[in-house]
Amino acid sequence: MSRPKLIVGNWKMFTTRQSAVELAKAVAAGLKPGSTTRVGVAVPGPWITSVVEAVAGTPVEVGGQNCHFEKEGAFTGETSAGMLKDAGCSFVVIGHSERRHGFGEGDELLNKKLKAALAVDLPVIFCVGELLAEREATQTEAVLDRQLTHGLAGLTAEQLARVVIAYEPVWAIGTGKVATTEQAQAAHAFIRGKVAAIFGENAAAKLLIQYGGSVKADNAAALLHQPDIDGALVGGASLKADSFLAIVHADG
Ligand code: PEP
Repeated sequence: MSRPKLIVGNWKMFTTRQSAVELAKAVAAGLKPGSTTRVGVAVPGPWITSVVEAVAGTPVEVGGQNCHFEKEGAFTGETSAGMLKDAGCSFVVIGHSERRHGFGEGDELLNKKLKAALAVDLPVIFCVGELLAEREATQTEAVLDRQLTHGLAGLTAEQLARVVIAYEPVWAIGTGKVATTEQAQAAHAFIRGKVAAIFGENAAAKLLIQYGGSVKADNAAALLHQPDIDGALVGGASLKADSFLAIVHADG
């Protein structure tokens, strides 16, 4: 099955309002007309509306980097999925390794967040991936199995159609150590197989699975040519329009 590519920049807690708007505009201006590759940016919360305005009328999709699982309430400092949607987001990233490991977000909490986003019809990029120690202990598949089983628990195949999985080996994020194409393809094939086992072959064949972890212009094409790699979630290289656009255009 041919699936469109999806390249998303994760700006993390970087940019100012002005630099975010300039970056978003430069990304939009650099896209090739008629390309089937989808492009998104996951921006810091305070800049969402400014970036949404900056790219209005262009194909650039704007997303949030996290959300709370409740609709509203006394949760100081938190943002609901509905608020992200209201601000103009067309997706939210859930379960990034910096949330899992820096903020202690576990599988059950992430499952609640995922369901909260889907409940307001906000598509999700759901991140999974193993730590270096887990890979070295040959636990990669067991970790992915656990993260997918618990993370996607209770979803229907119809809901899964609004979920993208991002495979991000934690040891490759922000380290400059990219997974080999063989390592990445093997993990992606495992993820697609696991999703097929839960949701059926048809749902799995349509599922977009992004790779994330030190993707740069010079390694993007080889990764994107793997049969089960449908795009990239890009951190560091997404903070400059030139390096991000080089990844967007890496697939031709
Ligand atoms: C990320 O933040 O999701 C990421 C993959 O970062 P980097 O590209 O910098 O490794």
